[in-house]
Amino acid sequence: MAFIEKMGDTLFNMGKDVSQKAKDMSGIAKLKLNIRAKEDFVKAQYMEIGKAYYERHRGEETPEQERFDLIDEALEAIEEMEMQILELKGARKCPGCGAETSDTAEYCSVCGTKLSVVVEEEPEEEKDAAIEFEFEPTDAKEDEEKIGD
Ligand SMILES: [Zn+2]
Repeated sequence: MAFIEKMGDTLFNMGKDVSQKAKDMSGIAKLKLNIRAKEDFVKAQYMEIGKAYYERHRGEETPEQERFDLIDEALEAIEEMEMQILELKGARKCPGCGAETSDTAEYCSVCGTKLSVVVEEEPEEEKDAAIEFEFEPTDAKEDEEKIGD
């Protein structure tokens, strides 16, 4: 019977090891999560410092000039794309408060700023211009032929 008792002991100890290991693993996982959270926090602080540095030294000569230029370029590209989105949506930004307003609105619905009316080219003028251009090539052709002789 000593053998069976020993077997039982071993099984008991193995079970204990498994549960201990599970506890260790969940402890490690928790610690890793906490580490990641702290790393994210530090990263966010770094970012704030970097942003403050950029804003304070923008336009100055700095040892990080290349990075400054890259940020400037990226910010310009973002602004351009945001303008494109507004254009596609038939909207624009209020110069007073920056709110998005309709292309056809006379006043900003948020702050009441009077919005400049978009001046569209008159179609009649375009027609006249087109007719004028039609005559021009004919004259030019005649001149060319004369020059050729
Ligand atoms: Zn406004």
